[in-house]
Amino acid sequence: MAETRKTRVLIVGSGPAGYTAGVYAARAMLEPLLVQGIEPGGQLTTTTEVENWPGDTEVQGPDLMVRMEAHAKAMGCEVVSDIITSVDFSRRPFVCQSDSGTVYVADALILATGARAKWLGLPSEEKFKGFGVSACATCDGFFYRGQEIVVIGGGNTAVEEALFLTNFASRVTLIHRRDELRAEKILQDRLFKNPKIEPLWFHQLDEVYGTDNPLGVEGVRVKHVKTGEITDIPCKGVFIAIGHAPANELVKDVLETHMGGYVVTKPDSTATSIPGVFAAGDLTDHIYRQAVTSAGMGCMAALEAEKFLAEEGADAQVQAAE
Ligand code: FAD
Ligand code: NAP
Repeated sequence: MAETRKTRVLIVGSGPAGYTAGVYAARAMLEPLLVQGIEPGGQLTTTTEVENWPGDTEVQGPDLMVRMEAHAKAMGCEVVSDIITSVDFSRRPFVCQSDSGTVYVADALILATGARAKWLGLPSEEKFKGFGVSACATCDGFFYRGQEIVVIGGGNTAVEEALFLTNFASRVTLIHRRDELRAEKILQDRLFKNPKIEPLWFHQLDEVYGTDNPLGVEGVRVKHVKTGEITDIPCKGVFIAIGHAPANELVKDVLETHMGGYVVTKPDSTATSIPGVFAAGDLTDHIYRQAVTSAGMGCMAALEAEKFLAEEGADAQVQAAE
């Protein structure tokens, strides 16, 4: 029979937002339970150096997330390896089904499911996914030692991936649809100084081509966005870095979303349209999407959940006394 776990606060997600919520909720003596999801530690586990986490001039993303997990646990947050598959938001306590079969029942919910890499949606991208097409340089860069690689995108992720890939690749072409990068200036500076990286402006990926047996990439066909001219670029690896979309599957039909699926919260708050449900981090943030802002929202969510439960407790006492 399925196990049922009851908790005052269930935190869904183990990125900076989730673990920070865990620290604050535990210190509020709420004995929170945190479900890690498919990517324990979240997006920062897919990168190397993080240089903008206050207090650390440079820290490896995966190390930082191990420390955050340890911190949350040390404060008394229980961390569980599981995935929430659905939530019944129609009544309280909220009942959450999970991949393991355990049913989590919670008086308050903190949703911190973050964001996931976007794909272009090309059939050839899908065909070669895992066979030369990737969205994670730190995961797959090692397979392309001495090879030519292309990176698609112009944001922080694309530039960081291109720089990281120069550790392995003989040459990296950064293909961007404009002639201006969205990435931070410090990263742009490093990119333009790196002799192994060549930007290709005003181009879009049209098709990935390669062999069928064995499945493998031989190159990309790119199109000039103004002239429509097609060019073939031979390469063995294609890294798609065109941004991230909020991981809103649990809530998209229930909570209001905007700007491409980000959960709407009340102004200056993590409260959603459902009392007792709070949302934090990249799930709600279409503007900043940083580790430190996610952590800040995790803090806010825990403090707001604590206040919500305290006020509810007070109301229940008043009703009992009446
Ligand atoms: P995420 O880190 O996205 O974590 C989401 C969590 O939710 C995961 O643990 C996942 O397993 C869990 N989850 C999802 N669905 C479920 C479910 N159904 N059940 C249970 N759990 C679930 N920011 C910086 O400030 N500095 C940087 O240097 C930096 N570098 C980056 C490099 C890369 C390559 C990328 C992709 C991002 C980078 N960012 C950086 C952005 C930063 O990683 C994010 O802003 C931050 O991780 C968002 O935190 P989060 O807690 O909202 O969610
Ligand atoms: P992003 O900032 O949204 O950039 C996405 C890039 O991909 C843009 O350059 C965009 O082009 C391009 N793009 C989008 N759709 C495309 C399409 N269909 N075809 C071709 N190109 C397309 O995403 P991100 O770089 O993944 O960053 C996400 C968040 O994480 C950001 O907030 C970022 O600051 C943060 N992050 C931070 C760090 C860091 O602090 N060091 C590192 C990584 C990520 P346009 O520019 O033309 O729109």
